[in-house]
Amino acid sequence: MTTSYITHADCLRHEMGAGHPECPERLAAVNEQMRASGLLETLRCLKAPLAAAADMKRVHQSDYVESIFRNSPSQGYAQLDPDTAMNPHSLQAALRAAGAGLLGVDEVVAGRAANAFCAVRPCGHHATALRSMGFCIFNNIAVAAAYALEQKGLKRVAIIDFDVHHGNGTEDMFSLPHWQGRVMMAGFFQHPFYPHSGTRNPAPNMVNVPLPAGSGGAAIRRAMEEHWRPALERFAPELVLISAGFDAHAEDLLGGMALVDEDYVWMTRELMALAARHSQGRIVSMLEGGYNLAALGRSALAHVRTLAGAV
Ligand SMILES: [Zn+2]
Repeated sequence: MTTSYITHADCLRHEMGAGHPECPERLAAVNEQMRASGLLETLRCLKAPLAAAADMKRVHQSDYVESIFRNSPSQGYAQLDPDTAMNPHSLQAALRAAGAGLLGVDEVVAGRAANAFCAVRPCGHHATALRSMGFCIFNNIAVAAAYALEQKGLKRVAIIDFDVHHGNGTEDMFSLPHWQGRVMMAGFFQHPFYPHSGTRNPAPNMVNVPLPAGSGGAAIRRAMEEHWRPALERFAPELVLISAGFDAHAEDLLGGMALVDEDYVWMTRELMALAARHSQGRIVSMLEGGYNLAALGRSALAHVRTLAGAV
């Protein structure tokens, strides 16, 4: 069994203006690490398909999805919110990013791959049902989770979010009673920090572990062992989805946490062990944040190499 690596050149054409930290070079850095290390040629490399509006509407409000299609500019930029903009290629990139997750779910459910990594942008976990936010247009991981539950017949899906920022959009969507019992979300995030959410009365299916700036590997291990693992073992997910942001890395100055490459290997192994016990090993991991190009490339490589069993 192999690891699928799902990406698309369209995801390199979305950009939000000079100096924006969520830049095409991020994805190029990830792809380059995969290629230069020789790992890429051992993976099942697939092009991300386009998600359909109907796929987005399982978690986003219809009006919002239609407004994104309508706002796509033919030139220049359409500013969606203070942090997020569209250029003429962004709609296509956003549909590929969400589509990658759908294909990833197809791959692992059909048993064509043991697990999948989606090297995509724009990222997704801040996008709520109603709006774009924090560099995110469509909530890729949520679109994948809803697809697995409503189209592929799975009963329980876990989402693990290890980005330095709280995945407020994913939490907003899956806190609804409609999803509770079918989705569990577990994550750590720097607190207090953008987007200043995740700490007040989370829904019972949310396992949120806020951590102070400076937290490193020891704090992550405690979060996993004391909070995530017991809840996830009880929940027994049939599929594990990962919002894989690498901005909790010590070298990432957008975040203030202190993880090192090896911490991503450890977390990946833990999640693989969980998936082996409950989910037939099925994991779909999707790129979220990560803004130091060198640390992002190395950490993503460490993560995918571990998924591929190549360490
Ligand atoms: Zn982030």
